[in-house]
Amino acid sequence: MEEYYFTQELPFSKIKKALLTEFIDFSYDNLDLWGSKPVELFFALTRDQDPNLHSAGYVTGDGSKISIYIEKRAFADVLRTLAHEFVHKQQDENGTLNKMESGDEALQEIEDEANAIAGRLVRAFGEMHSEIYDENLLEHNKFKERKTPS
Ligand SMILES: [Zn+2]
Repeated sequence: MEEYYFTQELPFSKIKKALLTEFIDFSYDNLDLWGSKPVELFFALTRDQDPNLHSAGYVTGDGSKISIYIEKRAFADVLRTLAHEFVHKQQDENGTLNKMESGDEALQEIEDEANAIAGRLVRAFGEMHSEIYDENLLEHNKFKERKTPS
């Protein structure tokens, strides 16, 4: 079984899709997530597409779904949120998430760790693919794809 899968047509341009897939694999390599429980990755353009989505992203308690809000957000930011949820997945796999029951301080530690590692992952990936920071380039490519010969 695949470690991650999509149930939607990804709402990204071709260049973003390619970068997204590479970033997921990069994250799985770095977080040692290959062989982990399968997870559905969902990207919501609007809040109505996922009534449970009240923040930038979340992972379900059973770890079966990660949902990310993408509307009007910079692509690098979307990747950072995705990486943040992947760290929670890793914490879940290695049992760290159980600490969440022991109060706000433990929860804050878990969040700090997710933010720190997600930031590191995006920065390292951005060193190889600086285009993740260039919305103009990413949009430009989107328009180019749509252009039909006249
Ligand atoms: Zn979090």
